[in-house]
Amino acid sequence: MNNLIWFRNDLRIADNSSLNKACSGDKVMGIYCFDPLLFGMGDYGFRKTERFRARFLIETVIQLKENLKKLNIPLFVYLDSPKNRIPKFIHEHGIQNVFLQKEWTRDENKARDAVIAHVPASVNFEESYDQFLFHPDDIPYDSFQQIPKVFTEFRKKCETYGKVRPTLESPKVRPSTNLVENNSEVPSLKDLGLNNFSIDTRTAFPFQGGETNAQERVQDYFWETQKLAFYKKTRNGLMGPGYSSKLSAWLANGSISARTIYWEVKEFERVVRKNQDTYWLIFELIWRDFFKYVSLKHGNDIFHIGGILNRKYKWKTSKRTTESWISGQTTEPFINANMKEIAHTGWMSNRGRQNVASFWSRVLEQDWRIGAAYFESMLLDYDVHSNWGNWMYNSGVGNDPRNRAFNSRRQAERYDPNGKFQALWLQETLF
Ligand code: FAD
Repeated sequence: MNNLIWFRNDLRIADNSSLNKACSGDKVMGIYCFDPLLFGMGDYGFRKTERFRARFLIETVIQLKENLKKLNIPLFVYLDSPKNRIPKFIHEHGIQNVFLQKEWTRDENKARDAVIAHVPASVNFEESYDQFLFHPDDIPYDSFQQIPKVFTEFRKKCETYGKVRPTLESPKVRPSTNLVENNSEVPSLKDLGLNNFSIDTRTAFPFQGGETNAQERVQDYFWETQKLAFYKKTRNGLMGPGYSSKLSAWLANGSISARTIYWEVKEFERVVRKNQDTYWLIFELIWRDFFKYVSLKHGNDIFHIGGILNRKYKWKTSKRTTESWISGQTTEPFINANMKEIAHTGWMSNRGRQNVASFWSRVLEQDWRIGAAYFESMLLDYDVHSNWGNWMYNSGVGNDPRNRAFNSRRQAERYDPNGKFQALWLQETLF
């Protein structure tokens, strides 16, 4: 059997179901496509992937290729659409089985269906849900339609009746004959139509992409500095790498699995300390699962103006307002500081994200989807479910039972009492 792993948002070798399944074959190969569609313009006039996440992805794929090579598994990398490349590859290499992570949102479905339509029916596609903490087969709901609207209900039930699967054993090194010739190369930023750039020294996310770097972050945040033991107290911070785990970007492209993080927390609790703070990291991972289940339940509604509630608000769309929000020139210094941060680094804290989203949709009353699309373009850690789910939540068209709006002045007094964060970003910048 010749098996192919079609890597998408599961860019790791540890705890990877598709890779493990593929390794039962005689020949095993991997493929990754930098789909030009993801680097083109999106529906709201922003590039779908800006330079920050593009570079992080390049770093990730380089590391994946190296790590797979150590297992004698070649990774073929192309700057081309899956539809153009994968059927050809399947034909040339006599592939019988294709293993891939199961995705369900619009663009991902389209890409998969286009590939399937262009290969013989005898080629078997096996998809695995591999991005969850609680696997869909292990949650206490019979169908996705039963997923509740309110997070707390979901969390409590999963904590009581759900289970987190153990991580998979890493696959064994294959015979060197598995390593066929591979001249494919990982594209550069320039190949993707983007300019090179240097990292802003003020960034709270000074990390690079890749599975090894994700593991190093866990090592540092959990074991060396033991910051995990204070996570709940610091997680609303705004400055520097230490206030939260910063694992989101690696989780988003699958460089590390949620299960790996969960079991590492459990080990930390066993060896070092178990407290509210250690629990809270798991609590946040359940939020991540929740938004995935919300999108499984509601499908494309998460991209619609009325959201999953089908609410009808009078949304405005002003170009000038958009520009002033993006460039950090609104009337609110706290909003401006956060918007400058994302523009210069591709990163913004959770506190910042909630505030700028609320300001955009509740105060300025602008179409929330424009804000979400801007985040999609800029964020290092963009994840379709977390982004659109959180945007709906903060815009009154999603899962917030209290339907709250933030007062950014009061938020600044509380979370940036000395104004240090605002000073960091509002001093003379290059805009
Ligand atoms: P930590 O505080 O260390 O949390 C650990 C992990 O839990 C995170 O890495 C993340 O995977 C998960 N998590 C934490 N908070 C949330 C949350 N509210 N929703 C879902 N998962 C959560 N997160 C993304 O990963 N991708 C996005 O595209 C994204 N867009 C967002 C847009 C808006 C408007 C808002 C308000 C939040 C968004 N978030 C998104 C959630 C959250 O802000 C980030 O996950 C978090 O700031 C990442 O930092 P961290 O890894 O240090 O998180």
